[in-house]
Amino acid sequence: MKRFVLASGNKNKLIELRDMLSDIDVELVSRIDAGVLTDIEETGETFEENARLKAAGVAKAAGSPAIADDSGLITDALDGAPGVYSARYGGSHDKSDGFRCTLLLKNMENKQPRSARFVSCICCVFPNGDVIEARGECEGEILCAPRGDNGFGYDPVFLPAGFDRSMAELSPEEKNEISHRGKAVRGFKTMLKEYLSRAEVKNAAIYRDGVL
Ligand code: IMP
Repeated sequence: MKRFVLASGNKNKLIELRDMLSDIDVELVSRIDAGVLTDIEETGETFEENARLKAAGVAKAAGSPAIADDSGLITDALDGAPGVYSARYGGSHDKSDGFRCTLLLKNMENKQPRSARFVSCICCVFPNGDVIEARGECEGEILCAPRGDNGFGYDPVFLPAGFDRSMAELSPEEKNEISHRGKAVRGFKTMLKEYLSRAEVKNAAIYRDGVL
């Protein structure tokens, strides 16, 4: 079993990513369980930059490979907002998902187009400096009122393209099948399997203390 640290304190992401990585020989531990108590600041201007910042910071602190998912929601009518600030929309991280959904619906009142997309950028940084990156997007539109109790974040106000149920009305399996994170993880897994299968990588000291 290969141990990776998730460079995020978001429990929902840990649940979704663990589930999606369960079919390969990977154990995903939370940043806190790996003993990395300080959060890495997201100072990048893109999802890619932030994912790389988080993964590199945690890989360095933990001495283990680290995976980061930087994700968010982009709306066309609001010039891309909430975008890379999705987790801090309307102020700080302390606000609830419900608060952020309500704020988004208010800002989208009478706005057209309703088109939007979720974006997920996955980045894995190894202690030897190697990097694997993948991106996934899920197109849809912003509803006028929240629907459903599943998922997290903006799921209740997002209608995925081709569905008549909101993201929060889909089962976890249905969401993973079409979601930005599901798509990014599938691309990431292909690259990770290829990376780990290369003989020189297997033999390289990419894991501390012989964890591999
Ligand atoms: P960060 O990647 O931790 O900076 O935060 C991403 C933020 O985007 C989350 O806190 C959610 O508000 C939102 N988000 C990311 N992925 C999803 C998703 O799958 N469903 C709903 N909201 C999401």
